[in-house]
Amino acid sequence: MATASEGHVSEEKFCKLLPKVELHAHLNGSISNETMTKLLARKAHLPQDQQPDTQALQQWTDKVEKGKDVNLVSFQMFKLNHQIVDDTEAVAMVAKDVVREFAEDGVRYLELRSTPRDVPQTGMTKRSYIETVLKAIQQCQEEGVDIIVRFILAIDRRNSLEAAAETIQLAEEYRAKSGGIVVGVDLSGDPMVGDARQFIPLLQQARNAGLRLALHIAERCHQGVESLALLNIPTDRIGHGTFLHRVEGSQELVAATELHNIPLELCQTANHISKSVPSYDQHHFKYWYDKGHPCVFCTDDKGVFHTTLSKEYHLAMMTFDLSRKQLWQLSERSIDFIFADDDVKQTLRKHWTNERSKLQL
Ligand code: 5GP
Repeated sequence: MATASEGHVSEEKFCKLLPKVELHAHLNGSISNETMTKLLARKAHLPQDQQPDTQALQQWTDKVEKGKDVNLVSFQMFKLNHQIVDDTEAVAMVAKDVVREFAEDGVRYLELRSTPRDVPQTGMTKRSYIETVLKAIQQCQEEGVDIIVRFILAIDRRNSLEAAAETIQLAEEYRAKSGGIVVGVDLSGDPMVGDARQFIPLLQQARNAGLRLALHIAERCHQGVESLALLNIPTDRIGHGTFLHRVEGSQELVAATELHNIPLELCQTANHISKSVPSYDQHHFKYWYDKGHPCVFCTDDKGVFHTTLSKEYHLAMMTFDLSRKQLWQLSERSIDFIFADDDVKQTLRKHWTNERSKLQL
């Protein structure tokens, strides 16, 4: 196997060896095929009418891998994944596998996000869900998996204001209890549903309590008004931001993004497969990168979209003709935008410095 110090590695290998920061990864969207096989085996004893819809899983794989025109959207896949990951044992398996897989891909710092869920039939509560993820992170650390992990609690915009308030309250509580592993709050869920402005007072409360905000903003073209309000909270990072510069009122949206210097979490494969960008070369990375605005490559849902963070870097390299040095700079600059404290940033910067010479940059 080639090592970093061997120098003449392929571009794919370079992207894998590059130390990376992953800031936008949804837990239940990040389930690999291997983990999915184990999860389905746990359901094999169920009667036929209670079995997960494996046909839909196969159809989705055909759509993603073979480009078949299957009438399924990613939000249907998340629903299916939630049916499969319905107890704490499954959550623990998913969380540990996801952390290990990111580490194997050369990710040295990961912010995992997930929506706490309760499933009365299995006894899983939102608290046991959060505690299971935190324990999985701790176990990976004890096993010496070479990655630093932080956790972001997600609000699903399809759910009620009461559910969002509960998530914020849990985030505040576990931020204190987890010794700083819980670092922030995400707002996600189907962007075609509801108006996110209703959550703003709660998000402000979270920010005042020291939690950082990573909000999905302007994923679809109808979200201009809502997006401006979310930007001006201000949010600490933007998930996707696909239509910020392409909607009515975009001047104001771009100005607010620049005024607060809010980094964008960019997920090329996810945006392409979910058809929010027409082609890879029209991905909004170019618009923001050319302005010198902070951009961080991320996977979004590495399982659902069959990607890895290395692939996302390689894709950007090929699509936008970026050099190895430019990829390095993007990766190293990502450290500035993590939600962990300055000590973690220092540790990561030292690690990046050590790795740089090995990559002959
Ligand atoms: P979980 O929160 O269960 O760990 O991860 C799956 C959930 O993340 C989905 O149900 C959805 O709420 C959210 N999610 C995953 N990918 C996306 C995305 O691209 N956009 C939005 N808005 N939400 C997403």
